[in-house]
Amino acid sequence: MSFANFTKIELKNLFKKPATEKYPDGPATYKEVTRGHVVNDMDVCVLCGLCQMRCPTGAITIDKKKQTWSIRPFSCIQCRCCVENCPKKSLSMAKEYTEPDVAKGQRDFDLTDRQKEVLAEQARQAAERAAQAMEARKKAAAAQNANTAAGAGAAATAESKAPAAPASEKGQAAAAPSEGSGSAGDNKETPGNRDSE
Ligand code: SF4
Ligand code: SF4
Repeated sequence: MSFANFTKIELKNLFKKPATEKYPDGPATYKEVTRGHVVNDMDVCVLCGLCQMRCPTGAITIDKKKQTWSIRPFSCIQCRCCVENCPKKSLSMAKEYTEPDVAKGQRDFDLTDRQKEVLAEQARQAAERAAQAMEARKKAAAAQNANTAAGAGAAATAESKAPAAPASEKGQAAAAPSEGSGSAGDNKETPGNRDSE
């Protein structure tokens, strides 16, 4: 580039708007494609654990006893997998970068008091439903046992009350031709019979 050309470009740039943003003098603006970082609305999260299971880097940890949801921001690769799989839609990507930190620690988020109450109530209702279902199963099993016992008792009674046919009668019944069939054979008019008359 000749000196003349260089000077021309320099002079032109002196009067043009700067190509870069004036951060930090002005607020940073984030583009539409900025992935940002994961945030959780602890007023909606139910600590179901799905995000923890789906996170490919293991950045999320859930402690149901302590009722905390934690993330290690420096392990997160902003893949959005947790956000897309959250059934309660409590996760989202905030359009700003993770704040710098001196330690690569984990950040814990406690459930809100309101959400703790909601979950406690849900757990109580679930326990109640389970107890009712168990009770119903016990009753059904008891009724089935009673029916089986009653059926067996009735069969035994009927068997004991039925008169036992003597063996000789049984033999005669088998040997003797039935009355109806015998008389029909006897009353048949044969040509021989007619001649004798
Ligand atoms: S998937 Fe959603 S509701 Fe379930 S623990 Fe994760 S953030 Fe909470
Ligand atoms: S964005 Fe991806 S890497 Fe980050 S916490 Fe969610 S699932 Fe894990």
